[in-house]
Amino acid sequence: MIAEETISQLATSLRGRLVEPHDAEYDASRRVHNGMIHKHPAGIAYCADVADVMACVNYAREHHLLVAVRGGGHSAAGMGLCDDGLVIDLSQMNGVYVDPNTKTVRVEGGCTLGQARPRDARLRRPSAQRHRLDHRRGRHYPGRRVGPLHPQVRAVD
Ligand SMILES: Cc1cc2nc3c(=O)[nH]c(=O)nc-3n(C[C@H](O)[C@H](O)[C@H](O)COP(=O)(O)OP(=O)(O)OC[C@H]3O[C@@H](n4cnc5c(N)ncnc54)[C@H](O)[C@@H]3O)c2cc1C
Repeated sequence: MIAEETISQLATSLRGRLVEPHDAEYDASRRVHNGMIHKHPAGIAYCADVADVMACVNYAREHHLLVAVRGGGHSAAGMGLCDDGLVIDLSQMNGVYVDPNTKTVRVEGGCTLGQARPRDARLRRPSAQRHRLDHRRGRHYPGRRVGPLHPQVRAVD
């Protein structure tokens, strides 16, 4: 387990916010969809961009910290959380970028299905997707028109 004052150093390298156990929002920040999951990470980093994610991964590697990546927080087993480690939260990275010319969509890792939905009309071939959109075997809302999403993924960052 890492000392609180040590993980506080990570905050200085982030554009996004680092929530630590002494913060008022800590309990709310460690909630996931499955209310039966109660894990206590040493820190929860709300990454603002890819540079933040890289900083978190490097920090965790240097300090031998367990890492959990939280996208939508819908993993029934609570795999988006960990005890005593660092949670890389992607909820602020939820952009959806549509290129109508190439009929591709770039979806950031924290984007939920609901956030992607308004762009549905132009959603044809996701170029980079993670979490719920990527493996729903056609049972997702655009599935009836475009089929399963995972064969259409062109790249994952
Ligand atoms: C109400 C409900 C309905 C659902 N319906 C469907 C459905 O119809 N079809 C379907 O396919 N699924 C369904 N699911 C399952 C859900 O879509 C999957 O659990 C999905 O993986 C959740 O994505 P997330 O981004 O919310 O994951 P999060 O909870 O944010 O978890 C993060 C993910 O990253 C992984 N991860 C975390 N840390 C690391 C690490 N250090 N290295 C590598 N990987 C890591 C975890 O294993 C986990 O998969 C449903 C879930 C719920 C709660």
